[in-house]
Amino acid sequence: MTALDETRPDEQVHFRTCPLCEASCGLELTVRDGAVVRVRGDRDNPFSRGFICPKGSALQRVHDDPDRLRTPQIRRGDDPATATWEDVSWPEAYAEIERRLQPIIEEHGRDAVGIYLGNPNAHTLAGVLYMRPFIRALGTRNIFSASTVDQMPKHVSSGLLFGGALTIPVPDLDRTDYLLMLGANPWESNGSLCTAPDFPGRLKRIQARGGRFVVVDPRRTRTADEADEHVAIRPGTDAHLLMAMINVLFADDLVHLGHLESITSGLDQTRELAAPFTPAAVADVCGVEADTIRRLTHELAQAPTAAVYGRIGTHTVEFGTLASWAVDVLNVLTGNLDRPGGAMFPRPAHERLATQGPGRGFATGRHHSRVKGFPEVRSEFPVATLADEIETPGQGQIRAMFTVAGNPIMSTPDSDRLDAAFRQLDFMVSVDIYRNETTRHADVILPPPSALERSEYHMAFFALSVENYAEWSPPLFESRGPAEHEILSTLALIASGQGADADPALVDDLMINGVLSPALQAEGSLLAGRTIEELQAELFGPSAVDRLVDAMIRTGQYGDWFGAVPDGLSLQKLSQHPHGLHLGPLSSRFPEAIRTSSGTIELASPPIVGDMARLRASLDRRPNGELLLVGRRHLRSNNSWMHNVKVLVKGKERCTLQVHPDDAQKLGLANGGRAEVASRVGKVTAPVEVTDAIRPGVVSLPHGWGHDMEGASMSVAAEHAGVNSNVLTDGSIVDPLSGNAVLNGIPVTVAPA
Ligand code: SF4
Repeated sequence: MTALDETRPDEQVHFRTCPLCEASCGLELTVRDGAVVRVRGDRDNPFSRGFICPKGSALQRVHDDPDRLRTPQIRRGDDPATATWEDVSWPEAYAEIERRLQPIIEEHGRDAVGIYLGNPNAHTLAGVLYMRPFIRALGTRNIFSASTVDQMPKHVSSGLLFGGALTIPVPDLDRTDYLLMLGANPWESNGSLCTAPDFPGRLKRIQARGGRFVVVDPRRTRTADEADEHVAIRPGTDAHLLMAMINVLFADDLVHLGHLESITSGLDQTRELAAPFTPAAVADVCGVEADTIRRLTHELAQAPTAAVYGRIGTHTVEFGTLASWAVDVLNVLTGNLDRPGGAMFPRPAHERLATQGPGRGFATGRHHSRVKGFPEVRSEFPVATLADEIETPGQGQIRAMFTVAGNPIMSTPDSDRLDAAFRQLDFMVSVDIYRNETTRHADVILPPPSALERSEYHMAFFALSVENYAEWSPPLFESRGPAEHEILSTLALIASGQGADADPALVDDLMINGVLSPALQAEGSLLAGRTIEELQAELFGPSAVDRLVDAMIRTGQYGDWFGAVPDGLSLQKLSQHPHGLHLGPLSSRFPEAIRTSSGTIELASPPIVGDMARLRASLDRRPNGELLLVGRRHLRSNNSWMHNVKVLVKGKERCTLQVHPDDAQKLGLANGGRAEVASRVGKVTAPVEVTDAIRPGVVSLPHGWGHDMEGASMSVAAEHAGVNSNVLTDGSIVDPLSGNAVLNGIPVTVAPA
């Protein structure tokens, strides 16, 4: 992906996908003397068309950050606050892990080792592809990730409705006439579970072509400010509102399944489930007038095309899965699912089409967590119960932890408790580029290469993209250490007992053959007559992880099948498109995409029907005068991990407690003063920002701050510490179907500090 700028022969221009958030914008990077001197949006990228945000412009600053770890470190001393850290070689670090991990496994069993995976894993090829062999080698059931403080409800609702946890519809932003958005703020987040570079521009174009978008959110966010209508709902009540809209669709004869009629089941049960949720019954619960609910429903049903889209504020609440389910039920009942302008399923280049006919469906609860009995969901337990599993003695108690690209002490509920629990561990390993609030507990830190030292193919997000699109670029700079997939492979070999000296290529072969063998053996395969060895020899790419992607693309839905489809796609062909390759607009994927055991969209699966009683019971709840805490996003934050970049944290204090003027007056709070915020589990003191952008009765703190813990080594972040909102969130409450933590709608008291 290199072009020579003829006007500056000492400069090279490179193009690659921005790895920092889901939007996946194309970047143009100018390199001089081995350093990136300019980053701007790639104007020739057909997907992002030059769009860039402040984080993308600062990408090279993470690469250049002197606090970024370049060599492994071993901690000397028990207390993270006072310990010293020794730089060691990679063989020394691996030997230390082998020496200390094996006795724990031998004495206490494999469940004595826990693992936590942070959100950035979804943004690297190694994180997406090589975590599975590592986790398999660990053989533990104690698997946790950022999914249970984020999007797990969407995986569960998609699994139950469509049969696949990753079968997630995205709003067809570029063709829709009407978009109803709940708990989403793409003006700040740039979009999530919906890959759409320049999301704000796409929203403005809905309006420009005569359409509308409506935002439901307790805060008047930047997105709500730009919307045609803002509905300031009470936190945690999206499920009630959405059920009332389903109720109105049935009551007012607005259900039109259209092309979905023959492939949808459970319609009558859905009508019964929605019956108690009349607009009048939910109005006081939601703080939204019944007439508004009726009008929104009619607008949705009558728009030529429409989509409902719910994001983090809809998921991180106690009824997260029901709300996520109701979002897509509205898309089904209005006939907008899987049609242009509605909510559609992308076709990523690395995926094969499913075979026709019913699938295996989706289930949870194949095993349960030891202490609180939570069902596994996608093989994970809720991260909200991680502290329980470390603190509670008995067989299976977690005594050693791996964290990979994660900072659960900042990102997960009841942070102070988790911080104390991590001190009890016998051993901990972190794979991370920073010594942060969590990795300061590690005995060994293994730093992977920076984003500029690895190949880029945004695999997870091309599967959530509002246009079918692919882009690949090789590493821009050479890494001094092993590649991330090599680190994970070596950890897998240590965990499996083969040892740190075993060849990581063993794992590569396993992974690549895992793609090629099924493609070769499939009935009517275009590869008939070929051998695995021949195919392996034809793979393209500078490293094993790239060759694995090539295998996936070549046997995928646009693939060249190793020459059997001459016009088909391969990684080599993709590499000849440095600005990325547009693969066409979203197109219908039903019935192929439906993998439920009935072969239908199952509206009324038993888990949903069962959990509805809990939602019905909550109809009696009325506001009791408590203040409710919600989070918020900022364009220049990326959860916790980019606060060490000066240009992103400079300027006005961002970690403030937003309070409505009426509440501020009642509580005696002044703008710019300080307030103590207390919940059942903790308290923090934060600067007050009085603003009418927040609903009365609601206060807001952003997440990802609180960089004042001793022992972390992020010097810029420490100067802009802020407070950790997760000191206040309560790990004892989760959405029962998904295990997702409740991070919004936390009851708090607020007083002048
Ligand atoms: S919106 Fe996301 S992908 Fe685009 S430049 Fe910003 S951080 Fe990168």
